[in-house]
Amino acid sequence: IWEQILEGAAPLLPNQTVDIWLKSCSALRMEDDRLVLDAGNSFVAKKVKDSFLATLESVMQRQGKGSGIDLVYDSKPVGAEETLPPPQPHSPISSNGLNRQYDFTSFVVGKSNRLAHAASLAVAESPGEAYNPLFIWGGVGLGKTHLMHAIGNYAQGKNGNTKVTYLSSEKFTNELITAIKNARTAEFRAKYRHVDILLIDDIQFLAGKESTQDEFFHTFNDLHTEHKQIVLSSDRPPKELGDIEDRIISRFEWGLVTDIQQPDYETRIAILKKKAEQRRIPVNDDIIGFLAENIPSNIRELEGALNRVIASANFSQEPITIENTQEWLKDVIGNGRRGPLTFQSIMDVVSSEFGFSPEDICGKRRTAEVALARQVAMYMCRTHTESSLQQIAKDFGKKDHTTVLHALKKIEMLMKEDARVRKIVENIDKKL
Ligand code: ADP
Ligand code: MG
Repeated sequence: IWEQILEGAAPLLPNQTVDIWLKSCSALRMEDDRLVLDAGNSFVAKKVKDSFLATLESVMQRQGKGSGIDLVYDSKPVGAEETLPPPQPHSPISSNGLNRQYDFTSFVVGKSNRLAHAASLAVAESPGEAYNPLFIWGGVGLGKTHLMHAIGNYAQGKNGNTKVTYLSSEKFTNELITAIKNARTAEFRAKYRHVDILLIDDIQFLAGKESTQDEFFHTFNDLHTEHKQIVLSSDRPPKELGDIEDRIISRFEWGLVTDIQQPDYETRIAILKKKAEQRRIPVNDDIIGFLAENIPSNIRELEGALNRVIASANFSQEPITIENTQEWLKDVIGNGRRGPLTFQSIMDVVSSEFGFSPEDICGKRRTAEVALARQVAMYMCRTHTESSLQQIAKDFGKKDHTTVLHALKKIEMLMKEDARVRKIVENIDKKL
């Protein structure tokens, strides 16, 4: 019913409304002849109620689908909301670090990212007022960076005077180091303390960098006091950020902490369709289904696979069939295997089990726990995929396969002798 109402209402609403605001709502059920609609949070609910509800209800009545719509969020009905204070005046400056392609329109909403999307939208609509800071965490390639840019782009589209700065925590660190070297810390401070929305991506890289954390702490406090919006992303939740000062971690939790999960099958399908549509390439449903099934965990890989298929088809002048797709992607999805397990999906499970990022696991750190995670991941790749030892070594950035061989022996031995390791491996097995 909701789909039909949306379709009917689309021509009557401002252009991007349906996409941006309404797709984050989900229909829950009919109660008598009223549709109960979950708006996700109070900001979306308020916007929908104020701007679109009348249109939606009239379409619904015209279609004979029912008499009206009841909005809820967090399972509470939408009552009288407090009105927001008027936006503060901003000084003009151009955007900084934003990628225009990453906007809300091109972001596909599904169960795995619904809350993160709704929260981002709320923050973009009312920077500094909705949730401050907004902390988005989740595995690689699941859309954190996309959402951050979308927030910046949306806020600037709404008010051209909004000063937005997007940067990675690595860039923040590097700039700070340069500033210290050149005795320009005052300028550095001014730059980041005079923005309306500060978006810092991959905050986990602040770990272990004390002077950067110190500077970040003061920047954070200044912005927060001034009700300027701060948005942060990370590959793990605040509590699991080791090597970051407690006073910083507790601030991360002041606003809203929300995560992005791996997309479910339907969402993967919707994303692929959207991307194919953006490229204006017809890709039929079989192929989309095949990709969605074989690349389960990571949207970046999903997109990469689609691009590869399109490029290969172009290049070889062959039609996009399942057989061809299988051939073109054989190093991504294994040799014709239709099982859902890939290096990436294994990495995701192992990294969540151990609480290290995939980068850490593939990296060079040698602390006992990281090394164990790495060896377990290699063992999983060997037992759950058909990758050769050489391929696994390559996936982990190792020069030769003896490292992998060593890891396999080690884990096999530990499984016999160490109950904790056995338990970990069993847990991972279950999740896979
Ligand atoms: P992360 O920062 O979490 O590692 P990104 O934001 O860089 O991930 O996303 C990886 C790629 O996947 C990007 O090209 C992005 O546009 C795309 N992507 C991620 N989530 C979605 C989504 N929900 N809808 C459309 N594209 C998405
Ligand atoms: Mg990112």
